[in-house]
Amino acid sequence: TAKRDGRNRHRYFDPAMREAILHKRELIADLRDAIETELVVYYQPIFDCQLQRITKAEALVRWLHPEKGLISPAEFIPLAEECGLIIAIGQRVFDQVCQDLPALKSAYDDGFQVSINVSPIQFAHEETQLTQWVHLLNAHNLSCNDIIVEITEGVMLDPNCETIKKLMVFRDHGMHVALDDFGTGYSSLAYIYQYDIDYFKIDQCFISTLKVGSDTLALCEAMVLMAHKLGIQVVAEGVETTEQAELISAIGCDFIQGYLISKPQPLSVLVSDRKGVVFS
Ligand code: C2E
Ligand code: CA
Ligand code: CA
Ligand code: CA
Repeated sequence: TAKRDGRNRHRYFDPAMREAILHKRELIADLRDAIETELVVYYQPIFDCQLQRITKAEALVRWLHPEKGLISPAEFIPLAEECGLIIAIGQRVFDQVCQDLPALKSAYDDGFQVSINVSPIQFAHEETQLTQWVHLLNAHNLSCNDIIVEITEGVMLDPNCETIKKLMVFRDHGMHVALDDFGTGYSSLAYIYQYDIDYFKIDQCFISTLKVGSDTLALCEAMVLMAHKLGIQVVAEGVETTEQAELISAIGCDFIQGYLISKPQPLSVLVSDRKGVVFS
């Protein structure tokens, strides 16, 4: 896979490498000033297969750089994690979600939830943002139930148990927990049964290769079965075609997220463009 190639590639200090380092430094400097003014939060709808309507959305941060244009979070989030800016970014995203949730609730449903990506670095940070977050939610007449915290398997594998304890404090307050990119990390089955998780998000690499009779379909089926046995619901990520949607819902997947339903969009689009999406 591309990932494996990347990991094994030798590093040469050639001009391209130098260029990349300079580019990185410049981005970090820009990012520091951009957090309050140039970061925006987009929302990608999550479709409930049973209810046949949108009941949640994932908050995805975007950087609208005045000169470089739109910069993908895949580019700047790893940088932000490296230099610590992820703490301020995480707070910025949470603030925005609190501001936006009431509009989403009135456009969709009072039970509408927003799913927020929380980096392992944020959990490792001394001052947990939890108390701040609970205050913010209260100030907006929202509750912890309105929020799903998305973590990756990396959080579960952290040898520092403090991280997982913090996560469970979030859980105790009523926030829901989703395990993101499920199936791509190192096995953490041992952790899954120990901690109360609400959702698995099956990574899009499984969804993109779904075909009738394919191995990935068998894997997805096994993941859904395991999840349901554990009382966990399943979200399929990166669903782009009706064929994928039909296959994944036929094996009992609970939610669908992907370009088929909608790309991540600004709040205004989600609120005004509230169409009942039906794929089958
Ligand atoms: P992720 O959490 O796995 O988010 C899903 C990514 O898949 C998003 O990329 C989304 O735009 C993309 N996607 C959704 N549906 C489809 C589809 O049908 N096809 C394809 N090809 N792609 C689809 P995005 O928005 O570029 O975000 C990339 C990553 O950046 C996220 O991956 C997440 O790990 C991270 N990220 C984004 N926002 C935040 C944030 O506020 N905080 C933190 N810590 N990380 C964030
Ligand atoms: Ca996510
Ligand atoms: Ca994901
Ligand atoms: Ca559960």
